[in-house]
Amino acid sequence: MALLVQKFGGTSVGSVERIEAVADRLCRSRNDGHDVVVVVSAMSGETNRLIALANDIMEEPTPREMDVLVSTGEQVTIALLSMALQKRGCEARSYTGSQVRILTDSAHTKARIQDIDERNMRGDLDKGRVVVVAGFQGVDEHGNITTLGRGGSDTTAVALAAALKADECQIYTDVDGVYTTDPRVVDAARRLDRITFEEMLEMASLGSKVLQIRAVEFAGKYNVPLRVLSSFKEGEGTLITFEDESTMEQPVVSGIAFNRDEAKLTISGVPDTPGIALRILKPVSDANIEVDMIVQNVGADNHTDFTFTVHRNDFRRTREILDKLASELGAREVAGDDRIAKVSIVGVGMRSHAGVATRMFEALSNEGINIRMISTSEIKISVVIDEKYLELAVRALHSAFELHTAESEAR
Ligand code: ADP
Ligand code: ASP
Ligand code: MG
Repeated sequence: MALLVQKFGGTSVGSVERIEAVADRLCRSRNDGHDVVVVVSAMSGETNRLIALANDIMEEPTPREMDVLVSTGEQVTIALLSMALQKRGCEARSYTGSQVRILTDSAHTKARIQDIDERNMRGDLDKGRVVVVAGFQGVDEHGNITTLGRGGSDTTAVALAAALKADECQIYTDVDGVYTTDPRVVDAARRLDRITFEEMLEMASLGSKVLQIRAVEFAGKYNVPLRVLSSFKEGEGTLITFEDESTMEQPVVSGIAFNRDEAKLTISGVPDTPGIALRILKPVSDANIEVDMIVQNVGADNHTDFTFTVHRNDFRRTREILDKLASELGAREVAGDDRIAKVSIVGVGMRSHAGVATRMFEALSNEGINIRMISTSEIKISVVIDEKYLELAVRALHSAFELHTAESEAR
């Protein structure tokens, strides 16, 4: 008998029939003798629908009211799922984030969890109930509703598992595990039985939305056993492991992540003097805009070019900042491109293999894909390319690093 935290994403609770199917699965877990805390997302499409309603009223609604609005999606599913469980004779009780008391900071729309009071949940578990918790939401110290950022129900689940010292946190979704790359983009993508925590963290931060980054961070910090599996079919899914990778035989590359959410800006002909990076990037960070990749070219004639990427939603604002700065600095030009994509190869095996970058560049060059920026770390290499080549690039890299399935090889 184990204590399990099971999270079901939007598609898994996307209709009454699916909610009933989740209830069947939970009753089976109960009948097997497990204690279960279940975290649910809003029904699929609901969070987007609520955001669109707000945007019909104004372009930039206040974050506090946004949280009041978008948190309603999850409140619907906890009630419906609890009813479906009760109909099956399985005792259940729903909780909003604030009723559990998932305490967060006050950073509306991207709040961080600070503390979880597990007493109410424990009380219900002791009485044999299934505890049904709304994902994605919490409450700040002043009683305001907060949310944890898109995909935040994953983080709720892992945080509850940490607080309750659960035996496993199981993320049920619409794919049967973590794949070598998004299986919706590459047919030949292969499910991984295991992936190291470090690799999962890179994959999530480089754009694989199968798990929210903070959920992976939380799992690492509190050593939460984490598994991704399908709501629709049986299977072991993918286990995120913490064991020392050096003892295991590792492939050079474990997965490919990509991200279409970025935009690139270049300010050229700026004076090549100490402090220039600060002059350019400080006003950007003061405007609360996060910068990802940065490249400064070798200067000539005491002038240089500076290129960096930001989230695509921040493109227009960043460009305005740079235009203003360009006249102050006497820069030659500001250029921008919001039709780029970032593709990354990830693998702890890179540590012990040389020539990985060359193999990556060769695969892209064979397809005639121009690399616009490059950045590397110990276990990943990322390149920025034109968005229109994204799928081609991912497929080319997938086969260059031999990540495909045995069946696709036979084809
Ligand atoms: P949920 O609503 O259950 O939270 P998400 O849509 O957030 O589901 O995450 C699951 C999706 O993540 C899959 O449908 C898949 O398209 C996408 N995905 C991206 N990269 C990967 C990957 N490497 N492995 C598996 N799924 C991936
Ligand atoms: N419903 C929220 C979203 O769509 C949270 C989640 O699904 O994890 O982002
Ligand atoms: Mg998700």
